[in-house]
Amino acid sequence: MKHLKLKYALRGGELVHISQVESGDSQGCICSACSKAIVAKKGTKREHHFAHKAGDSCEHAVETALHDAAKEVLNRHRKICLPATFVTFTSYRENFKISNEKFCVIESLKIEQGISGIIPDLIAKIRGRELLIEVFVTHKVDSHKRQKIKKLGLSAIEIDLSKIPRDMPITQLEDLIVNQFDNKTWVNNERANKEYRKILSQTRKLNIILRGFASHVDYCPIRSRTWHGKPYANVIDDCLYCEHCLDVNIEDYVRCNGHIPQHEIYKPKILL
Ligand SMILES: [Zn+2]
Repeated sequence: MKHLKLKYALRGGELVHISQVESGDSQGCICSACSKAIVAKKGTKREHHFAHKAGDSCEHAVETALHDAAKEVLNRHRKICLPATFVTFTSYRENFKISNEKFCVIESLKIEQGISGIIPDLIAKIRGRELLIEVFVTHKVDSHKRQKIKKLGLSAIEIDLSKIPRDMPITQLEDLIVNQFDNKTWVNNERANKEYRKILSQTRKLNIILRGFASHVDYCPIRSRTWHGKPYANVIDDCLYCEHCLDVNIEDYVRCNGHIPQHEIYKPKILL
């Protein structure tokens, strides 16, 4: 892999791009990973970049600088476009959209401060609620952290910067972080969880019965199939894509709301 050039430095506690400084000595610029003085190299032959002084080795400079740049951008702009929100199911029925992509004002922002035993990159206050923002450069939010966030009842998004050019100009980076939503995903969304629980509260748990190679549930409320007058359903062929099937544990049960009259089935509203 090509050795990536360092494009960002810290100066007086603020992040600067290589294009914002003069060539030459460090001018007070330090590396945001190791805090050592770095020099702006802006010659005519090579790509402009910051460099550590001879003998200073620094492995994570580029990644750390990009991470810091993302935080600095949100701190300066105080707004962010959030991705659409869906209620998702363990069956294959269609996801339920409960919110479009939307542009939000950040009322306040905490950088790298703890909340209930975890330290997200940022905690933004949006419409009076706290939203955790994680920036993914080299470390994605893992399932352990995801579970922890969910258990705490916090909403969180992840901004994926893992595949962008490490020397992306700051204006492009700003646009990506503030205005775009393609590279953002919900790590956890509390409204989606609440809506899911409401939808699930209308279901009945139907046990799966293994008959030879087939998995059945008996007394299918919408009578997918019958055998000597008794309704049943084949889990794989009938339940998985059925709009009434909201949760599947393939060797154990399905959760079904087929017994509820259509007009009484709870449907979350789409918030714009
Ligand atoms: Zn360094």
